[in-house]
Amino acid sequence: MEYAAKVRELREEDREINSFIVLDTTGVNQQSTAKKGVLAGKSIAIKSNICVEGLLATCASKTLENHIATFDATVVEAIKKEGGLIVGMANMDEFACGASGETSYYGPTDNPNAKGFIPGGSSSGSAAAVASGFVDIALGSDTGGSIRNPASHCGVVGFKPTYGLVSRYGLIDMAMSLDQIGPIARDVENAALMLDVIAGHDSKDGTSLKIGKEDCQFSRKLNPKLKGRKLGYAAEFDRLIADNGIKKVIHNALDKLSNAGAEIVEISLPNLDKALPTYYLNVYVEFFSATRKYDGRRYGHKIEDVCGEEVLRRILLGSYISQKEYSGRYYRKALQARSVIRNELSEAMKNVDVIVSPTVPKLPHKIGTKIEDPRVIYAYDIFTTPVNLAGLPAGSVPAGKVGGIPTGLQVIGKPLEDQKVLDVLHGFEKNCG
Ligand code: GLN
Repeated sequence: MEYAAKVRELREEDREINSFIVLDTTGVNQQSTAKKGVLAGKSIAIKSNICVEGLLATCASKTLENHIATFDATVVEAIKKEGGLIVGMANMDEFACGASGETSYYGPTDNPNAKGFIPGGSSSGSAAAVASGFVDIALGSDTGGSIRNPASHCGVVGFKPTYGLVSRYGLIDMAMSLDQIGPIARDVENAALMLDVIAGHDSKDGTSLKIGKEDCQFSRKLNPKLKGRKLGYAAEFDRLIADNGIKKVIHNALDKLSNAGAEIVEISLPNLDKALPTYYLNVYVEFFSATRKYDGRRYGHKIEDVCGEEVLRRILLGSYISQKEYSGRYYRKALQARSVIRNELSEAMKNVDVIVSPTVPKLPHKIGTKIEDPRVIYAYDIFTTPVNLAGLPAGSVPAGKVGGIPTGLQVIGKPLEDQKVLDVLHGFEKNCG
């Protein structure tokens, strides 16, 4: 089918799901995309906080409603070079602040595999577009779970690389020290293929690690072998899972992994319950600073005048905590707690290959449910945020369903052991699915 017709069809099909904010109707990307490459023939969705030249990068906000990107993010440049066809910009929570997709200025996204329920967030549209079969692969960003959480709710694969493995140049910051771009795909192979393309050193990003392209051949090296792998599982996970159905799915997954030859090793993470407050304090401060440029002069609107409730909450709390007299009281403590969590994870991983855990502690709620207390939404992030605080690689793979709703198994690795994480995800997908 010719491109324009394909996009028209996509627009029709997406009416109910609302996974895209904008589709590339002009085909501007087609012209700048190579005809050959490892992504040739694949269609791609990009989260609306990653710059694609000529397309709106709104961050699903009113603040940036007219913000057309003037350059390609490094990851986008790489995708085009390898022939991946970017068809549009995916819906998301406003400025990536959320875990449900409902804070988007462009309306919520539906969950294609559990209609009427949230698809998770903040990369809601990226996961929903993949789950609907609208695209082959999507890019999301993950600051505290935003790739893995929607992947879990939508029944697809999501991968957050080691911090610094993928360039953040052209990603609109939420919280710089935690943000990482990564793939969402229907299977681990496609996720790994995208990682091959986007990983590697970028001199334009000061936090980019010095990893050469030759060390980014994840898809070719994928090894589903589970025999002999040591997988850590913490008793604290069971205490924090809020849904018995999810607990059952996860323990079932552990049984399958051990039947396939893996060894489940008990580990302990006594400070796991500190991850959420630590994460949110860090995020408030960094997000506040990231949003100071939206003062209405350079980009569209002044953020405080037009943003939603959650974004405003973060700005106000970030401003409060950043004030000098309070910084020692909250922020410094949050930084200390961050290193406690990082050390605890690294200690726990000494005797295992990877950690396995649930991705989310509870099932998605119905779209539009009135939730007064933000901590109810924050609670979705309990198992994903520690990973970002420690800069580790982690992914989510579909583990089963609870009452028809998908839920994921999370695999967490040591820094730069992204390959091992992908291998275990792939092993689970192949041998235990
Ligand atoms: N739900 C988390 C938050 O709202 C994670 C967001 C993200 O990873 N971008 O901060």
